[in-house]
Amino acid sequence: MRRCPYLEELVKDQRAFVRIYRFDCHVDHRSKLKYALRDSPPICVRNFEDCPLYQDEKRREDRTITRYTD
Ligand code: SF4
Repeated sequence: MRRCPYLEELVKDQRAFVRIYRFDCHVDHRSKLKYALRDSPPICVRNFEDCPLYQDEKRREDRTITRYTD
């Protein structure tokens, strides 16, 4: 499974017909919930490169690395 490097924890729960995904993001330090009727995991374990939080943090890290290697 592809997984965002900034994903701290992903918990999947099932209540009646609803799937509940709780995921903790290291970038904004928030715990988030996603509700779905079908199997539909959050972006953190799919196309995480499209997540604006991921893009911002990756750019910030890349800038830091460039500064150290220059
Ligand atoms: S995909 Fe986005 S929301 Fe999910 S852990 Fe990564 S940065 Fe955070």
